[in-house]
Amino acid sequence: TTSAALIPDFIRAVGAVIRDNAEEVTALDQAIGDGDHVTNLQRGLEALDGLAASLGEDWSAALQKIGMSLMSSVGGASGSLYGTLFLAMSKSLKGKELDQASLAEAFAQGVEAMKQRGKAGLGEKTMLDVLIPVANALQEASAASLPLPQLLENVEKVAAAGAESTRDLVATKGRASFLGERAKGCLDPGARTGQLMISAIAGVLR
Ligand code: ADP
Ligand code: MG
Ligand code: MG
Repeated sequence: TTSAALIPDFIRAVGAVIRDNAEEVTALDQAIGDGDHVTNLQRGLEALDGLAASLGEDWSAALQKIGMSLMSSVGGASGSLYGTLFLAMSKSLKGKELDQASLAEAFAQGVEAMKQRGKAGLGEKTMLDVLIPVANALQEASAASLPLPQLLENVEKVAAAGAESTRDLVATKGRASFLGERAKGCLDPGARTGQLMISAIAGVLR
């Protein structure tokens, strides 16, 4: 099991990867959205930074604080979707230790809640094209009791493939859906940042 005391390290690593890739991601959201995706995420990260010292050791309680903070600080589609993810994960982990099985279950519940919130599924050119395969990979890894390094490798691989898969899709949800066929050829910004953030978290766990 892992203590929620790791969360400030996750927040720092995610902040760094978003900063390092800000130009690329902003260009993606300028091309098929409204250009604010990086600033939306950075507003959330700043709010979480302020919270980091008071998150405590309990995963469920910490994830609830994170979810509520993102809901109120971010604005934009990504804020309510990530807020939903963390609140649903918090609910699933209530009274449980964090281990591979409980994490896989919580992440799956979280992604399910995002699908309902965004009325979206796989193949609609959104962050879900990364997060759904990651949820599946976590459940497969847990069922097979994969060692952590292999779990992380699988998760990073499906996240990268998921982000890349959005390139040739037409968007049917979010702002990019207004563009129709013209959104083809461009990665979805939310899928790209989802992948980057997952890699950053995997890096902390290695
Ligand atoms: P906004 O579109 O409100 O400006 P952001 O730019 O922060 O918000 O986030 C845009 C990203 O949100 C998109 O790239 C896409 O991945 C994701 N997104 C938008 N709408 C949905 C939806 N209905 N379901 C899932 N993800 C969505
Ligand atoms: Mg935007
Ligand atoms: Mg916006």
